[in-house]
Amino acid sequence: MTEISICAKLRPVRADASFDVLVIGSGASGLAAGVASERAGVRVALATKTSLQACNSAKAQGGIQAAFGEDDSPEIHAEDVMRSSHDTAEPRLVEVLTSEAPSAIHWLEELGVEFTRSNGGYRLARCGGASRKRLLQVGDRTGHAITRALRDSFEAGSGAELPHHALVGLESTTIGWKASFQTKEGVVEIDAGAIVLAAGGRCYAEAEVRGELSTNHPNATGEVTRIAVAAGARTRDLDALQYHPNGGAWPATMQGYSIPETTRAYGAVLLNADGQEFTDSLGPRDAVSQAIFEEVEKGKGVLTPDGRPAVWLDTTRISAEDAEISLPYMLRRYPGAGIDPLTEPIYTYPVLHYQNGGLTIDEHAQTTLEGVFACGEIAGGTHGRNRMMGNSLLECTVFGRRVGRAAAERARA
Ligand SMILES: Cc1cc2nc3c(=O)[nH]c(=O)nc-3n(C[C@H](O)[C@H](O)[C@H](O)COP(=O)(O)OP(=O)(O)OC[C@H]3O[C@@H](n4cnc5c(N)ncnc54)[C@H](O)[C@@H]3O)c2cc1C
Repeated sequence: MTEISICAKLRPVRADASFDVLVIGSGASGLAAGVASERAGVRVALATKTSLQACNSAKAQGGIQAAFGEDDSPEIHAEDVMRSSHDTAEPRLVEVLTSEAPSAIHWLEELGVEFTRSNGGYRLARCGGASRKRLLQVGDRTGHAITRALRDSFEAGSGAELPHHALVGLESTTIGWKASFQTKEGVVEIDAGAIVLAAGGRCYAEAEVRGELSTNHPNATGEVTRIAVAAGARTRDLDALQYHPNGGAWPATMQGYSIPETTRAYGAVLLNADGQEFTDSLGPRDAVSQAIFEEVEKGKGVLTPDGRPAVWLDTTRISAEDAEISLPYMLRRYPGAGIDPLTEPIYTYPVLHYQNGGLTIDEHAQTTLEGVFACGEIAGGTHGRNRMMGNSLLECTVFGRRVGRAAAERARA
């Protein structure tokens, strides 16, 4: 039996090892699943393609939705999701998402996440497609704060970490599933009672094929979905990829950067070449992106100094106080390139951002394969064909926590 490399925790794991629950992916959804299944008392391992820190989740600046406002409720949140998805989302999944959102936020707080507060409550912003102020933030480092708290919790428990384990195959066995990984030492096989697929979307790879910019981490390449499909899993809405309406278009160092939607939540608006507003800047993402594409096609766009199509995002309407609390990263990066977003508008154009669809799941996030679960961006249904901002980190937390418990139960059965 060959010893295989593992984490700093120095817990020996051997090739041909077996676990009750094996989680694939170390973004917010995989980490939440790992923490929840470890807390359910089973033997869990978390395998990931490169380092544990490498993921899209940590890049999320904007925030996470949950109905805490006095004029808000999980039902209104659900209505907003269904409307933004143009009624293509799966209502049972949406109900789970929005009804468990407040308790998911409290769970993250117990794990150490400190959401930004004002006037004795959470600082809530209204994001695109939302009828109420519902977006919680940790400054502009929400994804970083959430993944760090989840990772710290996982590392404090008994779960094993398997960095540099890229899933390359999945097959069913008499007791569950066997997963094959490419590691630095060669191919390693690990048995598990239940598998949790939390390997994210494919927008980095897709943007390369299309010759476009993407906001995504280079590990967002989608092979785990293909592996699950080859094993027999069903998918839905896989063709529905989302453009973030506000990609950075200029300066060159900001190309592909997702300008946080909180800029628009705090007053920025989209303007054409004539300085006119041409769309509801807080509309659903697909509508805003489409409006920008059309405005440019009509010849009403502007060109960046390197000749790329763009429109203006008038960020001068954001107050200095809101910018300081909710946009400090952007306020550092743009002036570093000679542009002050609080005194001049910035160039923006839609950029490939998110895989709306994915593996078909039920309310417990089990795929159509028994014993194989999926959560986070790799799963489909919760957002239908058009996700609202702030609902992905929420989906990762709500369904990651659920799936961790369900997979632990399944492995024990
Ligand atoms: C720039 C940016 C800003 C965003 N802002 C927000 C926001 O403000 N609010 C919000 O709700 N959402 C936001 N999103 C979307 C959200 O962050 C992601 O959709 C979500 O975090 C995805 O989490 P995940 O756990 O499903 O996947 P990821 O975080 O992408 O993690 C996937 C993991 O799987 C691993 N992996 C991939 N392939 C393999 C393999 N073959 N074998 C083993 N491991 C593998 C990866 O290395 C990674 O660790 C943003 C996304 C980006 C890119």
